[in-house]
Amino acid sequence: SKKSGRDTFQFYDRMMSEGSLMDLTLLEDMRVGLESNQFFLEYQPQFDLQSGQLIGLEALARWNHPKKGRVPPSRFIPLAEESGLIGALGDWVLEEACRQVQRWNEKGYDPILMAVNVSQRQFSDVNLVKKVKETLQVHGVKPSAFEFEITESLLAESPQMAVAKLSELRAMGMKLAIDDFGTGYSSLSALRSFPLTRLKIDRTFIENAASDPGSQGIVRSIILLGRELGLNVIAEGVETNAQKEFLLRSGCVCGQGYLFGAPMGADEIVKLLARSPPA
Ligand code: C2E
Ligand code: CA
Ligand code: CA
Ligand code: CA
Repeated sequence: SKKSGRDTFQFYDRMMSEGSLMDLTLLEDMRVGLESNQFFLEYQPQFDLQSGQLIGLEALARWNHPKKGRVPPSRFIPLAEESGLIGALGDWVLEEACRQVQRWNEKGYDPILMAVNVSQRQFSDVNLVKKVKETLQVHGVKPSAFEFEITESLLAESPQMAVAKLSELRAMGMKLAIDDFGTGYSSLSALRSFPLTRLKIDRTFIENAASDPGSQGIVRSIILLGRELGLNVIAEGVETNAQKEFLLRSGCVCGQGYLFGAPMGADEIVKLLARSPPA
């Protein structure tokens, strides 16, 4: 559109004058890649640590660059966020995740939770709620089986806007998780004011949880905090049995990580869905 063209121009202009090291070539490639099917989603399974049952999936964006090969999200997400392209990328992720749920539904698999990451800028989009509502509806996705993962910093940035928007999403029936929890500075009272459903314990605390007492303390505190606030708690980055055992001993019953499965294509997920016993 004309407006996004102007935004882009202003962006380039600002970058040039600031002598930014931002990779404008990569940004242009991303724009092209979004239009030409170079992006796809992988899904990382989430499990009940006690029963081993599959309970959900996290959708993660992937980019297969024609010359560079796989570009990691740690490179293209910040670039998309800074340039504003995250709007288009985020819309595509939402759409594709819903299309995939619809495909699985049509094949007769019971719907399970689909979690999608939402960045700061995407969350600020005034049309976000409307977009989500429409996209879920078009693809026949139950809002109760759909989750947004947001960050603590996003809540801190503009708490009033966040409360209003999150309340609308909750009213639709959607689930709301705080990603990378423990790395920000949310106070107990601040957390209470947001209509959340889940805390995701950041990977860095899990990494050291089997050995380091400091990390163990933080993990236990988050689990207690979740219980106090009536929130589900899930651990990310679970790589070892020792970590899993520690989590179970501490009362965390949900986990995701390489121990159970790395992010994988939809075809691999089907095998898990087929194996999963009915709830
Ligand atoms: P995240 O949301 O914290 O996602 C978890 C990251 O940890 C993923 O990296 C995943 O592949 C990785 N991971 C999963 N299990 C393990 C484990 O056991 N050990 C270790 N070491 N790592 C594990 P990935 O896919 O490279 O994504 C990086 C980040 O990029 C994500 O962090 C998220 O913040 C962002 N991202 C990815 N896809 C999207 C998206 O569609 N939209 C937005 N806004 N951000 C996204
Ligand atoms: Ca996430
Ligand atoms: Ca995370
Ligand atoms: Ca992260």
